[in-house]
Amino acid sequence: MKTNDIMARLRAKYPGESEYLQAVQEVLESIEEVYNQHPEFEKAKIVERMVEPDRIFSFRVTWVDDKGEVQTNTGYRVQFNSAIGPYKGGLRFHRAVTPSMLKFLGFEQTFKNALTTLPMGGAKGGSDFDPKGKTDEEIMRFCQAFMWELWQCIGPDQDVPAGDVGVGGREIGYLYGMYKKLARQYNTGVLTGKGATWGGSILRPEATGFGALYFTQDLLHHAGKDIKGCKVALSGFGNVAWGASTKALELGAKVVAISGPDGVCEIPDGITPEMIDYMLVMRASNRDRVEDMATRFPGKARFTPGKKAWSVPCDIALPCAFQNELSEDDAKELKANGCWCCCEVSNMGCQPGAIHFFQHNGILFAPGKAVNAGGVATSGLEMTQNAEHISWSGKEVDEKLHFIMDNIHAQCVKFGTQPDGSVDYVKGANIAGFMKVAQAMLEQGIV
Ligand code: GLU
Repeated sequence: MKTNDIMARLRAKYPGESEYLQAVQEVLESIEEVYNQHPEFEKAKIVERMVEPDRIFSFRVTWVDDKGEVQTNTGYRVQFNSAIGPYKGGLRFHRAVTPSMLKFLGFEQTFKNALTTLPMGGAKGGSDFDPKGKTDEEIMRFCQAFMWELWQCIGPDQDVPAGDVGVGGREIGYLYGMYKKLARQYNTGVLTGKGATWGGSILRPEATGFGALYFTQDLLHHAGKDIKGCKVALSGFGNVAWGASTKALELGAKVVAISGPDGVCEIPDGITPEMIDYMLVMRASNRDRVEDMATRFPGKARFTPGKKAWSVPCDIALPCAFQNELSEDDAKELKANGCWCCCEVSNMGCQPGAIHFFQHNGILFAPGKAVNAGGVATSGLEMTQNAEHISWSGKEVDEKLHFIMDNIHAQCVKFGTQPDGSVDYVKGANIAGFMKVAQAMLEQGIV
């Protein structure tokens, strides 16, 4: 297998699908050497099959807004790979959603889910619906119309969607309500991220952020460092940023910046629990503005329009928002301001130039598919609880999540340790995830 040849073919076949091509390139570069030591992979054309989604559903979603006007969006579900379990991955509602974005996310999800060690294949879905400025009633009507089209493609042993950007507990509730009505079954295992009183797992909302901080702690320990007292800059103020801030505070770190599409809020004395709670209010408002934090907490949070979180001096950077949100220039600014670690919490949050810069300038870096896997891992735990019709305590879920994150870190170290003793976490995560999926595909024959 030659990465360059495969990439040339994919570029010609899918011109303009930049996020998808970027995600595939990163994985192929990491695994090329290991892959070529396995002639049986080459014979079964594992890579050629793995880079193509199993199937993509695309559908029209029509709904009526509060003014009585008819609105039309496009919905998608990309079922990427089911070698190690039913399709599993979130739904993203964002104006910029395209098939390329969902293909990259479904591809990444396949390896991430393999890293959790739970039996879950990879998928992603969503819509170009823009939640910004929408009322609660509009969100509900959109979710209902979306599920009307999707419901026959999903099922507890078939495909299990969950949340992602623009889809949280509220949206999962509306989606599940409509699924139940259409399927005429109380099939809780069909979606994860449900409310705790109707089949959801305790700690699922916190899980992505908590897991990211457990992973960060492991990475720092491995490098002989401690998170206590570290200054953390993070992007976003949604569910992931909320969970990450909560755990960072608990572990003794200081969150000095959060950001949004409108700019950055600098918090010199560190974020407080009250401010963390307020993130939930900001998310539910659909205003998509981080400035609201500074308005609510004047004197504590200082808003600067148009700036990113990466302009604020910190020890640890945690991108928690969107793909490619951290550029090479941002990476350079972070380093110039004293940052020495970046754990990607968003999916593909760092541009390739930024990753290259981190890796060649002594900055500890770990990729999203390892760092943020706690979210989908806890979705996997939710599926288990649903299948058994039981509910675990927060303590039980947290212990399992922590164990899974420690294990993911150990896999990265196993497959990513370099001759000089340092760990290439990108390589480690990609090889560990790939080997598991490839082996399963091989054993299941040419399908
Ligand atoms: N959207 C999350 C992710 O990127 C969670 C997916 C899930 O829980 O299925 O992994």
